[in-house]
Amino acid sequence: MYDVAIIGAGINGSATAYELIKSGKKVIMFDMNSIAGGGSGAAGAFISPKFSKSGELKELLHTAFEYSMAFYEKEFPHILTKAPLLHIAKDESDEEILRAYKKNTELELEDISAEVISSLSEESKLKENISINAGVVNAQALCSAMCKGVHFINAEVESLEYGDNAWTINEAYTAKEVVLATGAYEKLINEPYIQLRGVWGHRIDVKTTSSNDYSIHQFVSISPSKDGVLAIGATHNVHYHPQTATEPYNIEEGRAELLEKASRTLKLENVEVIKDYTGLRSGSFDYMPIVGSLVMSQETLSNKTIKFKVKKPDISEYVYYPNLYMINGSGGYGFVLAPYLAKILSDNILSAKKISERLQVARFFARWAKKLP
Ligand SMILES: Cc1cc2nc3c(=O)[nH]c(=O)nc-3n(C[C@H](O)[C@H](O)[C@H](O)COP(=O)(O)OP(=O)(O)OC[C@H]3O[C@@H](n4cnc5c(N)ncnc54)[C@H](O)[C@@H]3O)c2cc1C
Repeated sequence: MYDVAIIGAGINGSATAYELIKSGKKVIMFDMNSIAGGGSGAAGAFISPKFSKSGELKELLHTAFEYSMAFYEKEFPHILTKAPLLHIAKDESDEEILRAYKKNTELELEDISAEVISSLSEESKLKENISINAGVVNAQALCSAMCKGVHFINAEVESLEYGDNAWTINEAYTAKEVVLATGAYEKLINEPYIQLRGVWGHRIDVKTTSSNDYSIHQFVSISPSKDGVLAIGATHNVHYHPQTATEPYNIEEGRAELLEKASRTLKLENVEVIKDYTGLRSGSFDYMPIVGSLVMSQETLSNKTIKFKVKKPDISEYVYYPNLYMINGSGGYGFVLAPYLAKILSDNILSAKKISERLQVARFFARWAKKLP
């Protein structure tokens, strides 16, 4: 019997495994691909805050950015490449947002080197920008290092059954608690209120004779170069989905789009694409990530004492699946959010520490139940 079974070995499952193993838990992990074989393996894994004017996602990402940078620096310094981040506005409205952000941020702003300015396109040189200390992680190496100590099973989880105070997975393995970290790939628990948006992304590694010391974000993100190689990503293709597409994804078109967008920012010479990475990232419908226990919709609805059509629902009245949790919906910020969210989830699993309602899965149940006839 395992203490915890984690389904999905992307950054969310891996970061959760890391916290639980550190606390002495016996963890088993399943992935139908490999470790970081889903969306996480495709990521450029830039660690950046959200440069927007205001809003709860901006606040959350600011906290998560500071938490994760300190976490990676302490726990995985060999996997984190610290590099200055240069964020350049795309257009006039972006410029206004950046000006407001710079006025209010607590982050220390950095001067931009003359060298990087000279490497920018004439158009990008004129745009408002911001520079801070940030970093990039190696997605594959990070997830693998975080999973050290877990019992990894390379298999698809097809069945999850609860009985005798434990979950049985694929009729073969038992665990006291289960964490669903399945990204945009599968929906293991069929609950109508859980809806995730899978967005297809493409990034490339390119060989180039141009060198670059910054993470530069404008139309796409461009990583610092190492041994003549840098990463460019990502395109976001909302129309392509690997499970429903009738035509294969057009890699050449994706490459051309990435190179064209990168060239609008930076002068890159003698460019050769040496590797493509593609995958789905999973976002929630209110853009906030999802962490916490799953509501059993039928059992909750049949409790006639609960009022669903109220302004402020009391989510503590709902019926939850026993010891079943979800961590998902990180959108384009999985590597920024995961260490922070995994700490929140593991504190909840280990010591019942409360999770903010704004992060909990139950918020979607509350909205869904309110709309029922
Ligand atoms: C091209 C691209 C670039 C990106 N760049 C960045 C970036 O620079 N910075 C950043 O922070 N984020 C970035 N992201 C977003 C980031 O990658 C995601 O937010 C993150 O990967 C989500 O991690 P996850 O663990 O939730 O999902 P995933 O990594 O998709 O992991 C889910 C795993 O679950 C497995 N799985 C699903 N169902 C089952 C089942 N039934 N049985 C067994 N296994 C199952 C899948 O095989 C998969 O490996 C990028 C995403 C893409 C696609």
